Amino acid sequence: MKYYAKPIAKLIGKLTKLPGIGPKSAQRLAFYIMNDSDEEVEELVDAIKDVKDRIDYCEVCNNLTEHERCNICSNDERNRSVICIVESPKDIIAMEKTGEYNGLYHVLHGSISPMEGVGPDDIEIKGLLSRIEDEDEEVEEVILATDPNVEGEATAMYIARLLKPLGITASRIAHGLPVGGDLEYADEVTLSKALEGRKQV
Ligand SMILES: [Zn+2]
Repeated sequence: MKYYAKPIAKLIGKLTKLPGIGPKSAQRLAFYIMNDSDEEVEELVDAIKDVKDRIDYCEVCNNLTEHERCNICSNDERNRSVICIVESPKDIIAMEKTGEYNGLYHVLHGSISPMEGVGPDDIEIKGLLSRIEDEDEEVEEVILATDPNVEGEATAMYIARLLKPLGITASRIAHGLPVGGDLEYADEVTLSKALEGRKQV
């Protein structure tokens, strides 16, 4: 870093903290930004700020949204009797890309992981239960689409146990997804098949 003028070193340092950005990419980006027009740079800064200022969690499903309810929860054409449970908002995008699912979602924002000290109370399970218990919501089926790894399986089984006494059909998306992976990285065909082949738990 000693080769750079201080502001450049600072920008490179910040960019290096981003996921997937090593020192070389950070340097390339920093030099690109430096040579870009003032207008473009301002728009980039505004876009970053907007994401922080205007994006919040949906009051119903915890998806990312700029309104109180996300565009999926507020869409009357969606099938409100099915809730697909995912770990992260990125998984919703993966599911939506399959074009095979028309129900609602619930984002847990994590998975149960005793190794990392994450228990059931540390993820968004309570809100899910109140949605299911709310008779106006008329939920009939829950699809457990947590990641195909140890934590994801444990989380799916934990929620399935909670749902049993409530008389809700719970199904787990089929295997065939790469084990140990993240849902968001599954290709659309694999994910569609996993959804189609879901098994009751
Ligand atoms: Zn929502």
